[in-house]
Amino acid sequence: MSQRLPEIPSASSIEQLRQRLLAQHPQLEWVGSDDPARLQRLSRDYYDYSPLLRPRFDGCCAQLVLRPTQIEQVMTVAAACATATIPLTCRGSGSGNYGQCVPLAGGVVLDLSGLNQLRRLDPDTGIVEVEAGCLMGELERQLTTQGRALRLMPSTVRSATIGGFIAGGSGGIGSMRWGFLRDAGNLLGLEVVTVEPEPRLLRLDAQGSEALNHAYGTNGIITALRLPSCEAVDWVQLVVGFATWDQALAAAQHLQRTALELNSLNLLEAAVARQMPWPVGCPQAGDEHRLLLLAAPAALATLPGLMRLLGGELLWQQSQNGSTGIPLRELGWNHTTLHWRSHHSDWTYLQLLLPQPEGPCLHALRQRWGDSLLWHIEAVRNQGAPRLACLPLLRWQGAEALERLIADCRELGAFLFNPHVITVEDGGLGVVDADQVAAKALYDPKGLLNPGKLRGWLER
Ligand code: FAD
Repeated sequence: MSQRLPEIPSASSIEQLRQRLLAQHPQLEWVGSDDPARLQRLSRDYYDYSPLLRPRFDGCCAQLVLRPTQIEQVMTVAAACATATIPLTCRGSGSGNYGQCVPLAGGVVLDLSGLNQLRRLDPDTGIVEVEAGCLMGELERQLTTQGRALRLMPSTVRSATIGGFIAGGSGGIGSMRWGFLRDAGNLLGLEVVTVEPEPRLLRLDAQGSEALNHAYGTNGIITALRLPSCEAVDWVQLVVGFATWDQALAAAQHLQRTALELNSLNLLEAAVARQMPWPVGCPQAGDEHRLLLLAAPAALATLPGLMRLLGGELLWQQSQNGSTGIPLRELGWNHTTLHWRSHHSDWTYLQLLLPQPEGPCLHALRQRWGDSLLWHIEAVRNQGAPRLACLPLLRWQGAEALERLIADCRELGAFLFNPHVITVEDGGLGVVDADQVAAKALYDPKGLLNPGKLRGWLER
């Protein structure tokens, strides 16, 4: 694949680019070769969760980082890069897990965090128009004042940008109600700058935006997004303990078939729960498996009794707005991996959609892999149906063992979203999406955006 990447530009061509850009926009913020530590920092994300990605990305670095604060600056950068054939990689907050914002061919990293305004919240429809670099936590704060909320959020909601979430994320908190980002209805439109000598500023409708949704910024620079919002709820956080794994799993399965309003459900086996930092007031974990819920206040009339019937014990309850310390939503999704790895840096993880019923697959994997594989489960809605996803923690035993585990998971009927690969396709459904490639041909004809991350472009 590396032969197909653009060449790393010479230092002199980067310097010429910088001078040309600053002549046009003296206010444009930049970081150059005189600050290599910052260049390096702005060229990284959390790919070090994967021992396979580390050697692939460790040496990769931007030659120039630019931080526009106006659309005109983005257009000038796009024009200059297209004219001088300089690779251009977008960056939100750099909280991705697969090196999505790491520039494989040097060039410019475009830090979009300076484009961060909430442009409009339509009071009638709840539709939000927001600039791509807005931090999701800040967006959430502004929406709450109007009684609205984001449908979907990653557990990195405090640090991630909304543009980075759409371009690089997949789902998270809210996925048990609203499915995944790529489900129709979760993205209503995009404003996009093309990378051409004369860039265009396009306003794409929902259908036109789909090819840029989860494309790692390979086929357009997103400057603003239109998204649906939902009613804000003061979610109540609950932690329920179960003496046996089978009881805990059965409770998770049961809750997905009720009419209770839940925004997230995750299940941690006891060994994992013991390594989590719990919110202030929540007892530390012991031998019990823990079910973590975000429930609407109305669900509280039913939940405690139902949990008792299913063999659970309510260990702690507190509204999300009223609790201090770490919120429960920062113990799920890849935050579970983050907290676990802070104690065991030689562990990594996988991402699976479990077959139904889930028990036999989990049981067979436990038989084969023992305590080298620990369970962390998330409830999701997949293509409209309630399902359980699993982000198991895995003791690293080398690439061959990983391949064997992946084969075991597939043989048992699980669907894998591989977090140890670099392209959009290999981390997703495994197949080339012709629309993503066609959009790249239209909006980035020289193939300068985030080179090496869209396999369909490399293979065309
Ligand atoms: P970045 O990492 O900066 O970029 C992500 C991708 O988007 C890159 O390919 C980049 O080139 C591209 N991009 C960024 N901005 C633009 C733009 N304006 N135009 C075009 N392309 C752009 N992900 C989830 O989906 N759900 C989770 O619950 C979740 N939990 C996580 C927990 C932890 C502890 C960590 C480390 C990661 C987690 N992630 C999760 C991954 C990541 O946080 C999210 O995908 C996040 O939304 C990325 O946002 P960002 O602003 O950091 O984007």
